[in-house]
Formats: sequence, C-alpha cells, structure tokens
Amino acid sequence: MGAHPLHDATHNRCLLEREAEIVAAFEAIEPALKEIAAMQWQDGFAERAQSLALQRLGFTLPRAWLVASWTAPLDMRRLYAYAVFRTFRTLAERNFDRSLANHNEGEPADALIRRWGFHAIDITPCADGRLSGVVDYILRVPPAVVVHRKSYAGSMFDIEESMRHWAEVELRRHREGLPNRADEPTRYLKIGVYHTSGSDPGHEGCAAHGSDERRAASALLERLDAFRKAIENSFCCGASVATLLIGVDTDTDAIRVHVPDAEDRMSLERYVDNARLYEATRALEREAAKEAIRLAVAECAGVPSDDAATEGMRWFCAYLLKNNMAQIEYVRAYHNGRYTDLGHTERFITVGDSFDDVQMRNLAYQAQMDTVEEGASDLDIGIKIFTKLNVARGLPIPVIVHFRYDAKVPGSRERAVKRGQRLEAAIRERYAQLVREGLLYTFVTVKDSAVASRLEDVGEPNGATEDHCACGCDSMEARS
Ligand SMILES: [Zn+2]
Ligand SMILES: [Zn+2]
Ligand SMILES: [Zn+2]
Repeated sequence: MGAHPLHDATHNRCLLEREAEIVAAFEAIEPALKEIAAMQWQDGFAERAQSLALQRLGFTLPRAWLVASWTAPLDMRRLYAYAVFRTFRTLAERNFDRSLANHNEGEPADALIRRWGFHAIDITPCADGRLSGVVDYILRVPPAVVVHRKSYAGSMFDIEESMRHWAEVELRRHREGLPNRADEPTRYLKIGVYHTSGSDPGHEGCAAHGSDERRAASALLERLDAFRKAIENSFCCGASVATLLIGVDTDTDAIRVHVPDAEDRMSLERYVDNARLYEATRALEREAAKEAIRLAVAECAGVPSDDAATEGMRWFCAYLLKNNMAQIEYVRAYHNGRYTDLGHTERFITVGDSFDDVQMRNLAYQAQMDTVEEGASDLDIGIKIFTKLNVARGLPIPVIVHFRYDAKVPGSRERAVKRGQRLEAAIRERYAQLVREGLLYTFVTVKDSAVASRLEDVGEPNGATEDHCACGCDSMEARS
C-alpha cells in the first residue's frame, strides 16, 4: 500500500534533509577527534589538527587545548564536549527554515488556529530528548503561534510560571491588540505532552514517572486542570484557558489526543489513537480521510459532528491528528516505521530557557529552569540518562546553559549572562565529582529574543581559563 493520502511529500523531504544534516554534523565528531588524538605526537600537530577540525567539523578547536606532550597528552574529553557545543552552535546559526508548518491546505495556519478559537499555544512536553522534535516534527504547528515551549521532567510544569506566561500574552492583547484584541472570544491553549514506548512501555517510557504510562498521563492531566482552575479562580470576567492532553509513542511518533467533551473535560481513557486512525484512513482519498478524522474526533468527544459549541477544539484536534499522520508517514518512510534507537541517544543536555531553532528527536535532554534549586530533580534525571549514555563510554556530558534576553530592555543581556553563569556554577558544584573527573563540561550562551538573532557565547569554554597566556591577553587563538 502507498503512502498516507494526508502526508505532504515536500514537507517530509525538507524535514528529512534537516534531520540528516543534524545527524551528520554530530556523527562527524568522534571519528575526527579519534584522528586528532592519533596524531598528537607529530610535528606541526596543532596546525594539522586545526585544519582537520575545520575541514571535517566546520570549526577550529581552542588553540590552547591542542598542546600535547608525553607527560600531558591531549584532553580528548574536553575537546569532545567542546566539539558537541560548537556543532550545536553551528547548527543554530544555520537558521533552518521553520516555515513549513505556516500553511495548512493553503491557508495561513495561525489564522486558522485563531478561527478555531485559540490565540496562543503553550506546549509543555517532557524533558526527554525523544520529544525534542515535538513542535516541527510530531505536531507540526507553526512556531509563530507557539508562544511558549518549556520542557520539564515528566512534563510537570510550574503552575505559577505558566500563569505568568498566560498573563504576558493577555496583557499584550489588552495593550497592543496582538495577536488579537482582548475582547475577541479566543482562548489561550496549553498543551501537555506525555510519552510512552509502544514496544517497551515498562522500560522505555517516561523515566520521571517510572515508565508508567498511566501515571505520566494522570499526573499531567491533574496539572493541566489545576492550571485552568488557577486562572479561573484568580481572574474575573470569566477568564479561562483551554487545555489539551496529548500522548506520544516515542517508537513511532504517533500521538493520541485526549479530546475534551462537551463540558470541556478530558479523560485518561478517552482519546483518539492516531496509529490506529492512520491505518483506518490509509487507503482513503484525501477528503474521505479528513472526514474520517473529524468523525473520530467527534465520536471521542461524544458530540454530533456538527456540534457548534465544541467545533473549534475538535477541528484543532483533527488538525493535529492530520499533521501527525504525516509524521507517522515520515517515520515509516525514513525509519522503517519504528525508530531503531528506541531509547535515549541525546547529544547533550540543555538547561535554562528553551531553544527550538534546532529541532530533532533525541537532540537534547531539555530541562528548563532558572536556578538549580528549581530544576534539580529534572537535571538529576538528565545526568542519570547521560551517565549511561556517555560516561559509561568514557565520554563527558556536555551541558549547554542557555538564556534569552530582550535587547529592548535595559540591562537584560547582563542579567541573562549573570543568570547563566550562576546556573553554570551551581551545576558544576552539584556534580563536582563528574567535573573533577573531566566527565561534565558546561557552556553558557545567551540569545536576543528578536527573530534571527544569533547565539552568543558567554566567556570562554570552561577549563580554558587556566591556560591564559602570560601576557594577559584573552584571545583564544593566542593562548598557548
Ligand atoms: Zn518523560
Ligand atoms: Zn475584570
Ligand atoms: Zn598573549
């Protein structure tokens, strides 16, 4: 049987090219560094190493780290961590085209989503790297509509913080009429994403919930309900938000959507299983397939398919299911229907603010936090994952600390830098043993929140400081 009628071949090919480029960039690191390690005793080593790095990885390495003697050989661990960090930065600067999801059947997706009754989307997935592609790949929603995407271990988001995000969006509607005026009856939509592994639910599910699918889903549903109550109880004039619970099978990227019923309630048992719906609609014509999705959603909501009150949310759910059909098709076409790496193969850990410009499954374990106190348990889970993933192979854990600032706000950049350095110091203290053994490296970056701004390194990569040259200059290239 052929491909699903609702997949877009061009869109999928673009996503594949992007994935291939990201994978190739990271896969180049180990062989290049092995070669560099093997030639460290040769004459003119530093220059040869730099040209090899430039040619194979696209960047040079800190000059000071390329000094080797028989009593002090190259520190390959820190070179590895640095290479991972630079690879990520290079990819971030690629400015991948994320506009693929901006249109839906020829219509601007943001206008459609607003017509369905939502002016902003806030997505909270699990920190698990297998959800690193949740926006561009799994759900395929336009980044411009996603006002927040913050990941937490087990998707256990902070309610007060979510309320602040909501308030920011609502204030802008009141003050500037953006993205629409506050008196328009649209809602802020918060989507919570939990995950499970279809083939090995007891082991490859959500680590934060002991790989217990039911626990992961019910804890998140409870939190979504609490968030909605918090808004309703704290603000008058019928303030409310919409919430949506979604599960992902990380083996296949197929979602299940817990469609709200006529009372706007969701249930753990009631959902549309897109893997099943994919099979059921695969042989249909496009229009018939879309109609089948709409009927499945209405049936799940327990309302007639022409019920006006629930229409917006139902159409939005159908839109996500349709988008995800294309992702199921993607995994079938390019990963034989099921990823071979069912578990974790993340490349690094990122903490601080979210970073979505480079999206890919298993790119990074993402723990969003401002301080270690607030995110310690999230980070511990990430370190545990990387202890198996990297440390067991003698490779260090690269941790990228990232904060956004707003260039329009006086002092914002300085504060972001301070926050980054403070978080970095706290991480190095919490995992001091790993740091001492050269098994954990941290890098701090900040970025202006304006579009098309670049990642900026803060200071020098840690570990380079002791190599300052005697003249006191701080140019990396001059240090040796
Ligand atoms: Zn998880
Ligand atoms: Zn009021
Ligand atoms: Zn100097």
